[in-house]
Amino acid sequence: MLNTLRKIVQEVNAAKDLKAALGIIVQRVKEAMGSQVCSVYLLDPESNRFVLMATDGLNKRSIGKVSMAPNEGLVGLVGTREEPLNLENASEHPRYRYFAETGEERYASFLGSPIIHHRKVMGVLVIQQKERRQFDEGEEAFLVTMSAQLAGVIAHAEATGSIRGLGKQGKGIQEAKFVGVPGSPGAAVGTAVVVLPPADLEVVPDKHVEDITAELLLFNTALEGVRTDMRALSAKMATQLRPEERALFDVYLMMLEDAALGNEVVKVIKTGQWAQGALRQVVSEHVNRFELMDDAYLRERASDVKDLGRRLLAYLQQARQQTLVYPDNCILVSEELSPAMLGEVPEGKLVGLVSVQGSGNSHVAIFARAMGIPTVMGVVDLPYSKIDGIQLIVDGYHGEVFTNPSELLRKQYAEVVEEERQLTQGLDALRGLPCETLDGYRMPLWVNTGLLADVKRAQERGAEGVGLYRTEVPFMIKERFPSEKEQLAIYREQLVAFHPLPVTMRSLDIGGDKALSYFPIKEENPFLGWRGIRVTLDHPEIFLVQTRAMLKASEGLDNLRILLPMISGIQELEEALHLIHRSWGEVRDEGIDIPMPPVGVMIEIPAAVYQVRELARQVDFLSVGSNDLTQYLLAVDRNNPRVADLYDFLHPAVLQALCKVVEGAHAEGKPVSICGEMAGDPAAAVLLMAMGFDSLSMNATNLPKVKWLLRQISLGKAKELLAQVMTIDNPQVIHSTLQLALRNLGLGRMINPASNIQA
Ligand code: PEP
Ligand code: MG
Repeated sequence: MLNTLRKIVQEVNAAKDLKAALGIIVQRVKEAMGSQVCSVYLLDPESNRFVLMATDGLNKRSIGKVSMAPNEGLVGLVGTREEPLNLENASEHPRYRYFAETGEERYASFLGSPIIHHRKVMGVLVIQQKERRQFDEGEEAFLVTMSAQLAGVIAHAEATGSIRGLGKQGKGIQEAKFVGVPGSPGAAVGTAVVVLPPADLEVVPDKHVEDITAELLLFNTALEGVRTDMRALSAKMATQLRPEERALFDVYLMMLEDAALGNEVVKVIKTGQWAQGALRQVVSEHVNRFELMDDAYLRERASDVKDLGRRLLAYLQQARQQTLVYPDNCILVSEELSPAMLGEVPEGKLVGLVSVQGSGNSHVAIFARAMGIPTVMGVVDLPYSKIDGIQLIVDGYHGEVFTNPSELLRKQYAEVVEEERQLTQGLDALRGLPCETLDGYRMPLWVNTGLLADVKRAQERGAEGVGLYRTEVPFMIKERFPSEKEQLAIYREQLVAFHPLPVTMRSLDIGGDKALSYFPIKEENPFLGWRGIRVTLDHPEIFLVQTRAMLKASEGLDNLRILLPMISGIQELEEALHLIHRSWGEVRDEGIDIPMPPVGVMIEIPAAVYQVRELARQVDFLSVGSNDLTQYLLAVDRNNPRVADLYDFLHPAVLQALCKVVEGAHAEGKPVSICGEMAGDPAAAVLLMAMGFDSLSMNATNLPKVKWLLRQISLGKAKELLAQVMTIDNPQVIHSTLQLALRNLGLGRMINPASNIQA
């Protein structure tokens, strides 16, 4: 059964549009279940009716015509109860409704299963049988499994259709909304540019081309390139492989022949598809066919075709590299955005980012916030390979993306963009003003840095220090570990730029989602694995070089602070302190006279919350990493879009932990700061100030907004609000209470500028 299921899903996945996908589903499920009818009804959101969209067994002419409201018929019942329904004699059921046009009266037994995607009912899958019989438990389980698997595929096919004009009702190109998670606040209206990872055939988008001859030429050149490579490879292997083993290369060469794969691609190009799209189409058809074969040898051929496809694509992409055009108001879209992709866009053109993978705390989102670019992450259902060149709206406040927006929606969002621009201009005037509440309380606002671009922005926005310099960022953009001298130069630049303000440099925090290409860490469970201080304590040579470079860089400046990430207990802290002292001694032995800098520890693992006093006793300051602390307290992967809506730094458990940290630090007479993204959320910042954090460290983009809000409120009022919030046990209620309170104070505009758009 599992194999049948796998095959059906694969076939459906490869279907060219929704109609074809549904056609395959009804045909294959009917066969697999040995039933006489299989039908799919989909819920049309406009009419709120379940519409018969495909059937094998009922009258095909009733497709698109027969429909029922959720309170009608057995299909409506399955949809509203969100449960399977298994009836031996359907017509005896009080909810049975008869549709003459389907020819349904001949079928006695009925088994229906709801198709649910992300908690939303998409439709109902039904099988029927002439004779009266109860479908058995195994059959029921199969249908439920089938619908669960198909839900995602249908959602995807439906979305793709609505984007390229193959919509459910055949209505042509429509506005469609895709939900992800907020990555960086702000709104943008622009044109999608899909960026592909190198030579990944599956994600090549469809693209229409006018100049077919040029495309054919490109493809022929690629074919020639791969042929030459194959011959060269075969010759190279001549001494190591027997001739029969080398026959594989001949197979490859044969596949490339004009009469085979090559010719099929040419045919598709001639329909106006670009060479890369044509290649993807042909290769995936072949791969699917091979993968469905029962013969193991033939199944293996699928990987040969894939390999050939990738090789051809690599050639085609090389030829394309110079021709990627970035229009004005460009919105970059990719399966997984990387910081390098952002760097490719000419200055001034990039207005928004959309990533299918990742969440608000992925590094690319952190970069986006530093650069002030509206971003939506984790839009898992976006058929991104189909949207190159179309109009998009990115709503980074709510984590939503709109494809082909209507004129009205575009106008509404253009107004939000303009309001934002004016607001930012107004906020610039705040630069020279202190962050002081209405009742005279000073709240130091610091920045998080990593990129050099952050330094300039931080200075423009009046930061009072650096609360977190992520040293892994300069490590990430290199091809090997930077030497002590190279690190020294980079760190010196930071320290000089902010002097005399303090700069908190965190020791290398790699692992988890932060990978160095030259130091790969492959783990099943990277966030619970070898990361942060665990790596550097195991590699004292890396830690010592880094801390020596920091210390030397601070010579004569005296504004360095060192911060230790991912500390889970006293032992790690003591070992790290020991190494820092060793570095300090070595540097002084080299004749460089510098004082021992303040050393702090990050509180980002729940264990550290409970040992906060013991840790505080041994260090000079504490800094809460609310990104990781939230992830570990709630057991929610900060990069997994499926659970992104559970990731919430305003969860009561997180708020209680934060209060405990402040209390513990102060009881030991040590200052405590917070440097996770939470500190840059204006509403959350009000609570953090009230809790007693000694400084808030955030990305430069949000700093003026936080400053504006804190200047409009009194510490007294903030404390009242905190006291009220701490009595609430539900995160949703905390959010709304906070929003309402700030709105009542006339401070709503800073919370959510796009909140009044009804899309
Ligand atoms: C944090 O965990 O809150 C933090 C600031 O560190 P990073 O996001 O770099 O893990
Ligand atoms: Mg962290």
